[in-house]
Amino acid sequence: MTARDSKTLRLTRSAAASVRRGHPWVFREGLARPPKLDSGTAVSLASEEGEPLGVGLWDESSPIAVRVFGKSGRLDERALLERINRAFARREAFVGPDTDAYRLCNGEGDHVPGLVIDRYAHVAIVRLDGDHLDPWIEKLAPKIARVLAGRGVRSVALRRARDEAGDRRIRPLAGDEPEDRVIVRENGMAMEVDLAHGQKTGAFLDQRDNRARVRAFGARRARALNLYSYAGGFSVAAALGGAAHVTSVDVAAAAHATAQRSFRANGLDPANHAFVTADAFAFLEAAARRGDKFDLIVSDPPSFAPNERTKPRALTAYRKLHGALAKVLAPGGLLCAASCSSHVSAEDFLDTLDDAALGRDDLSLVAMHGQPPDHPTLPAWFEGRYLKFAVLA
Ligand code: SAH
Repeated sequence: MTARDSKTLRLTRSAAASVRRGHPWVFREGLARPPKLDSGTAVSLASEEGEPLGVGLWDESSPIAVRVFGKSGRLDERALLERINRAFARREAFVGPDTDAYRLCNGEGDHVPGLVIDRYAHVAIVRLDGDHLDPWIEKLAPKIARVLAGRGVRSVALRRARDEAGDRRIRPLAGDEPEDRVIVRENGMAMEVDLAHGQKTGAFLDQRDNRARVRAFGARRARALNLYSYAGGFSVAAALGGAAHVTSVDVAAAAHATAQRSFRANGLDPANHAFVTADAFAFLEAAARRGDKFDLIVSDPPSFAPNERTKPRALTAYRKLHGALAKVLAPGGLLCAASCSSHVSAEDFLDTLDDAALGRDDLSLVAMHGQPPDHPTLPAWFEGRYLKFAVLA
């Protein structure tokens, strides 16, 4: 099925306005008469007056009924591959020679809604958001593998949704069977990535530029704290930058084991650093009681606001967290506070770092960062801009 012979769906006035602006999602309630179609079916979109608005793929089960790929044209295998190749080509300008872990395709932000492809050295991991690409991916995968072979990728695997059975969360799609763990290079820094069991598609590639910043901040900062440290990317960066003692805190003990292997892969002895398996708030309370102080703090919690409804509670939690961080930040120390919730805007987030939240008035906001260029978004798609990284000194 292609857009030319595809079904035309009429959009409500507000859904039409949103698609006209370039927003890539049509929710079910944005359709005048939602049809019953197989997921993956190509559809055309039109306003109530019949003005053609776009082409997309149908998703029978998600609240997002149509993901919009463009204004017009056929939507077939060739068109999808062209878009994917364009996303790959765009990376050339953004990723340096000493980095082999980066996002090759960022779904909506690369005009291939729902398709995320992350490269981890010689493995490419595919994640599908929604069901609309399910009928396409098996056919696309060998072609994607052929294109990526030129970059040294030997395996293309699919990251399965959490609710599917089985422990190992990757399934080979094309090429070699991928190993469970790989060592990647990020700006020359080695990182072990758990492809089979790790979070996201294995690592938080969106923090790459921020890890490089933390590495630069590590110099002349003796004691560093990395809260919600996961596989220790920020910890290794701080230590490589010169921080003499890095404390990593996470509830997941397995993540610390990965972090320690990454320390060793960079010639750093993990025995010189601390890995604490604890709740972040409990750790901070105990640290404040002991009078511990840190010269560099990175805080990168999981999303506190998964949706709009939980936003007020999330803002309260961020304020509480940041207040607790301020208590253990040494005078002259540097605080890097991150949020990965798209429902919390940059200004909302800065409100949780004001003097009242921190209980001190000596800090300035020296920088505010977001996602790196291999995680592009669309101006009309605020949902894609989730990452905030505030630096206070
Ligand atoms: N900064 C990391 C990513 C952090 S993801 C990086 O750049 O790679 C969030 C982490 O928070 C996860 O590893 C999760 O195990 C941990 N976590 C969740 N709840 C926690 C809590 N209450 N206390 C400490 N860690 C927690």
